[in-house]
Amino acid sequence: MRVLGIESTCDETGLALVEDGVCVLEEVLRSQVEDHAPWHGVVPELAARSHFEHIQTLYMSMISGTSNAYDAIAVSVRPGLLGSLLVGRTFAETLGVITGRPVCGVDHLEAHLYSVQMEHTVPYPYLGLLVSGGHTLIARCLSPTSYEYLGTTLDDSVGEAFDKVAKMLGMPYPGGPHIENQARDGDRTRFAFPRTALSAKDPQRATCFSFSGLKTAVYYLLKSHADADPGFIRDVCASFQEAALESLMTPLAHCVSQTGIRRVVICGGVAANSRLREILSQLDVDCYAPSPSRCSDQGIMIAGQGYHVLQRMLENREKDITVSPTSRIELAKP
Ligand code: AMP
Ligand code: MG
Repeated sequence: MRVLGIESTCDETGLALVEDGVCVLEEVLRSQVEDHAPWHGVVPELAARSHFEHIQTLYMSMISGTSNAYDAIAVSVRPGLLGSLLVGRTFAETLGVITGRPVCGVDHLEAHLYSVQMEHTVPYPYLGLLVSGGHTLIARCLSPTSYEYLGTTLDDSVGEAFDKVAKMLGMPYPGGPHIENQARDGDRTRFAFPRTALSAKDPQRATCFSFSGLKTAVYYLLKSHADADPGFIRDVCASFQEAALESLMTPLAHCVSQTGIRRVVICGGVAANSRLREILSQLDVDCYAPSPSRCSDQGIMIAGQGYHVLQRMLENREKDITVSPTSRIELAKP
């Protein structure tokens, strides 16, 4: 079955044609990073307008050069920016009517957690650590369509912490890759930034994350170092990156011991960070990740996950297989 996947949850307009949930036939992707860079973050109204402006041209450019027809359409419907979700959903529904193909709604987080299966065969169950600009969470992944959330962030996402610290240091948006570049030659032990471990305060929250304290610690350090030495920025980046990435490890290690699952998949934009991959390799787990270019949002993962959602829904003879766009989803209470 060939599925057209459409992604428009945040600041990437992505479309792809994927066969049987794994084989990528075509892909187009447009990032809005330049539109949002002056604001150092995603502006929801601009994001929706930009999806609206480009989605049809992207679709036409992908479809005109290919003889690959598709059997069904999958569109990301949650969670995300509501205006952006509505653009994707309306486009998908319209195509569904014109082509007579079924349309299904896909959960963007589940698509991230599944995406590794498009490059590696990872036996189920596994733990998924989703680290992106909008999310930081751990899920128990039981099958392509069955996920349980074990913990999430109580404040910022880890990607947001990278972006905000980069902004404080005068670096462009998105800041993650710039911090990683500077950190390569920096001293990660120079500044003792806090590692969050919520378990110390509240065992109920041992699987959750928090990054606001770390961000504040960087802010006060910068305030107190007006005359910095030449290596200062590099050392701040390296010390911050180490603290942020190590803060991911305590809840993850807790989930590993709690569930007994020793297979870990990382995904989301921050999973492209090579130091994260090194730190994870020190945990006693089998670690898998999509290739760095597949870590952030794209249509490929929506088409891949959509194939499994469609299979399940068609098997259950569900007639209406679309879902209304929802900006937030309910995660398990910590
Ligand atoms: P996404 O939300 O999945 O589109 O990913 C974007 C987020 O990933 C932004 O917050 C980026 O700063 C972050 N990011 C991208 N590459 C890296 C990297 N190499 N290291 C750390 N964060 C990164
Ligand atoms: Mg993005």
